[in-house]
Amino acid sequence: MLPFYSLLPEELEAWLKGRGEASFRAGQIMNWVYQQRVVDWGAMTNLPASLRSALAEWATLAPLSEVSREESGDGETMKFLFALPDGKRVESVLIMSPDRRTVCVSSQVGCPARCAFCASGKKGLIRNLSAGEIVAQIFHIDHFLRQGEERVSHLVFMGMGEPLENFDAVLRSIQILNHPDLFNFSQRRITLSTVGVIPGIDRLTASNLKVNLALSLHAPSQALRQKLIPYAKKYPLKELLEAVDRYQLRAGRDVTYEYTLMAGINDAKEHADELAILLLRRQATVNIIPYNPVPGLRLKRPSGEAIEAFRAVLTRHGIVNTCRYTKGVDIAAACGQLALREEGSLPMAS
Ligand code: SAH
Repeated sequence: MLPFYSLLPEELEAWLKGRGEASFRAGQIMNWVYQQRVVDWGAMTNLPASLRSALAEWATLAPLSEVSREESGDGETMKFLFALPDGKRVESVLIMSPDRRTVCVSSQVGCPARCAFCASGKKGLIRNLSAGEIVAQIFHIDHFLRQGEERVSHLVFMGMGEPLENFDAVLRSIQILNHPDLFNFSQRRITLSTVGVIPGIDRLTASNLKVNLALSLHAPSQALRQKLIPYAKKYPLKELLEAVDRYQLRAGRDVTYEYTLMAGINDAKEHADELAILLLRRQATVNIIPYNPVPGLRLKRPSGEAIEAFRAVLTRHGIVNTCRYTKGVDIAAACGQLALREEGSLPMAS
């Protein structure tokens, strides 16, 4: 059934018009859903009963249901496991920092990118999520936070999947989240992270979106990058960076370059020098993500000193850098740890 959260107001209005309903009903319905947060058509008491039952046959207000919730030992991260109508599973992570409530959403079940260091792509892509299935993840977690009088403050497309390989649904989910009559969530608080899909970046540039962009760089050279990221062979570094530059110029947003730091792979001083040279003339922030362990992979996280030494080289070159001190490792909710789970499998199986 159609997830209601996939709809833009004009589509709801068109459906109502087709049924001969008054146009003001659209406002009433959107108010129930997005302001009152009602998830039951029957509870919308100012709508005629016939319209309520027609709505119930047409669209669902529960496109995903929570299967489980795990909290990390430090209480800063919560992982939500959701079941989709076809039995597939998807995860979202709530990251609580002192001044932020960030939701990390999945855009696909599985991932086509198959990066060497990431659990999400191990079994490839299973299917795209619809816009409504993406919006519902944020909606559900926002609902949870509201019980403690809090709201989702930031959104990152950094869960499972490659958002630019599910472009239409991701674009639509952002339009729905951003729409003043719907979720009214600022684009400035949304970050889309991509493995580097040039046509997707170009489409983003051509759209009127102004979300923050994060590029999963992970290596300062084409030679090393294509060893870690199969997509790099299709979308070479030079062209990729030019596509990102075009987006930055058009959208006026700073770009973050993510760099998963792996011991003995991409963490040498030479790599840091090369990275700095690559980004020197760009308005760039490098976000270092120390590698998070993935079962079955023999990669290692560098020591704290090695991480700091790498950062010091960047800083010396004047490259702004941050380090995502990992949250949620103990519940496998950290970057790259969201793995595919089939219905019926054990929670931690991957
Ligand atoms: N497909 C998108 C979103 C991926 S998740 C992308 O590639 O950007 C967000 C970030 O976590 C990406 O930069 C990804 O490369 C990184 N990541 C994946 N596996 C990781 C791991 N095991 N440890 C640390 N970071 C990882």
